[in-house]
Amino acid sequence: MTENKTIPEIYGTMVFNDRVMRERLPKDVYKAVHKTIENNSHLELDVANSVAAVMKEWAIEHGATHFTHWFQPMTGLTAEKHDGFISPEPDGTVIMDFSGKELVKGEPDASSFPSGGLRATFEARGYTAWDPSSPAFIKDGSLYIPTAFCSYGGEALDKKTPLLRSMTALNNEAVKVLNLIGLKDVTRVTATIGSEQEYFLVSKDLYKKRKDLLFTGRTLIGANAPKGQEMEDHYFGVLKPKVSAYMHDLDEELWKLGVPVKTKHNEVAPAQHELAPVFETANIAVDHNQLTMEVMKKVADKHNYACLLHEKPFEGINGSGKHNNWSLSTNTGINLLKPGKHPGENLPFLTFLVAVIAAVDEYADLLRVSVASPGNDHRLGGNEAPPAIISMFVGDELEHFLKSVEEGTVFSGEGKRQMEMGAEVLPHFTKDNTDRNRTSPFAFTGNKFEFRMPGSALSVANPNIFLNTAVAETLSHISAALAGTPEGEVREKLMAVLREMYIRHKRILFGGNGYTDEWVEEAARRGLDNLQSLPDAMPHWISEKSIDLLVKHGIFTEKEIFSRYDILLENYAKTIHIESLTMQDMVQKDFFEGLISYEKDLTQAAAQKASLLPGIGCAMEKTVIKALDTAADAIVAALEKLQADTETAEGKEDLLECAKYYQSVVLADMEALRAVVDGAEKMIPDDYLPYPTYSKLLFSLR
Ligand code: ADP
Ligand code: MG
Repeated sequence: MTENKTIPEIYGTMVFNDRVMRERLPKDVYKAVHKTIENNSHLELDVANSVAAVMKEWAIEHGATHFTHWFQPMTGLTAEKHDGFISPEPDGTVIMDFSGKELVKGEPDASSFPSGGLRATFEARGYTAWDPSSPAFIKDGSLYIPTAFCSYGGEALDKKTPLLRSMTALNNEAVKVLNLIGLKDVTRVTATIGSEQEYFLVSKDLYKKRKDLLFTGRTLIGANAPKGQEMEDHYFGVLKPKVSAYMHDLDEELWKLGVPVKTKHNEVAPAQHELAPVFETANIAVDHNQLTMEVMKKVADKHNYACLLHEKPFEGINGSGKHNNWSLSTNTGINLLKPGKHPGENLPFLTFLVAVIAAVDEYADLLRVSVASPGNDHRLGGNEAPPAIISMFVGDELEHFLKSVEEGTVFSGEGKRQMEMGAEVLPHFTKDNTDRNRTSPFAFTGNKFEFRMPGSALSVANPNIFLNTAVAETLSHISAALAGTPEGEVREKLMAVLREMYIRHKRILFGGNGYTDEWVEEAARRGLDNLQSLPDAMPHWISEKSIDLLVKHGIFTEKEIFSRYDILLENYAKTIHIESLTMQDMVQKDFFEGLISYEKDLTQAAAQKASLLPGIGCAMEKTVIKALDTAADAIVAALEKLQADTETAEGKEDLLECAKYYQSVVLADMEALRAVVDGAEKMIPDDYLPYPTYSKLLFSLR
């Protein structure tokens, strides 16, 4: 540990957390802040002034010289502009100043952030507003204040604002239902999230030699190493010493920032790893995941690694995801997705289980849109990540339970079963109610749902905005149906509503192997969407049904929805455009350099041999040169096609059409070019190539 300190001693030391506030804020101010956080109410300026003064003192004591409003624009990354605390005095000295106004509101020039037409360039103004529900922290000498970001006209330009709106919608609807079904003491329901984060580590020196990794985050060419992940020897494997040192440092940095990271292990693919935190309130978990991704990269650099967060950095082995574990908890301490010993009698559990099933079925397309990105499209549908078809897995026991609801029979359940391992010395323990189904995109895992489609680079705000809103919507149907029912009849009425809802939506449940062709056919028969790529999914984002849902719950205005539509499509086209240019550059310059110098050496060697030993056939050299030459012809043809099609794509005006063209033509060209380049690469010795091969990238970690 740092300077021999224990974890509790370093944990959260850089966070302006509840404990610091309790210790340092005047009692009435502390109470006011708490009220704001708990009731989602506004903070008065005098309270903000008082908090700002204390925050400044604390920050300066901890080495901060600047503060920054930290926000999450539509780039999916975070943004920050640092202001010093200094304020010059007439006598040539400075004082350190920070007002309540500066704490609650910032005015960054917003003109260079994506806004999808929400802001004309001359309207550069944007505002950041303090989110007191997510704690401020100190990093690299600055006080970071989590904020929401909006335009001059009040439209959300970020990921936090809609997430907070969706949490409010869900809270309102969930409390209403719970009060109606008898849990009258519940006044608040919060979504909780634990996001497992996968990543790759590669040596920094090697990383710097690959333009594709530098510019696009993924390898665009590169033949597979002779070994991939087929031996399944990396998953949960022993941590290599240097990787372990990295993870240790990473844990410590994150603990200081109050990010409760808990689990770490090697993942399936070589050089792939995972980290998971203890779950937290949704918006804090989202902020913490953003912070985690940043710190992962920063610490990697210190350890001479590059941390790759792209969803598909390497062909032929697994890509990286970010499992979104999601549940709901009440202010009275109930996890609403915990079945308990007697799920048959647990009405809140049943209500929320059915509400989630209905929500995922009804708005599967929106959930699909929420995880669509150029990177993640490479992952979904491969035999590594969930298929692009959204379905749910609840396990045998809950399926029996739901069947009893459908049939109106009594569910007794098997209860918890004892695990017997056949060896006396081993402890006895109870088995989980469900086994796991690793192919399912949306799985019930005992006391929460795990949405496995999000990509590793994605902001976790994305899926949760829609999950929260869709569940708010189905809950609102339940309340509407129960409204006015006399108390004594609520249970019966509720069971009837849930039964009907379940029957309507049970097509979304699937417990089999999601990787098979049979499932693709079966899903089509059930009418489930199979949206393969972002351009396929985007029309669903602006469908009447989506707009109705999002506007009704106050998540987005229609204007905001259309602006995000533009941003996503533009980003998609730009990403593939950059990939295409990078690939062209790498093939033309780096790959050809290796190819030509190898061919030259082979030719010279053959010529030398022939002159020294007349009559020798030089069959080996000739065969390789011929094969390389044939490959080179194919490469030149594929490259020319890619160049021409990329130009055509660039000229397309309509955003959807343009994205579709990049997806169906340019990406296909890139795959075709890659196939011939990779084939040739296998014939060229590593040392001839000016960039490291897969073998080096993936198998040289120590
Ligand atoms: P696995 O890989 O087996 O699914 P992990 O331990 O890696 O399990 O991750 C499980 C994640 O689920 C953790 O981040 C954990 O905190 C989170 N989690 C547990 N309970 C809840 C809950 N009630 N709400 C949200 N997330 C939860
Ligand atoms: Mg998991």
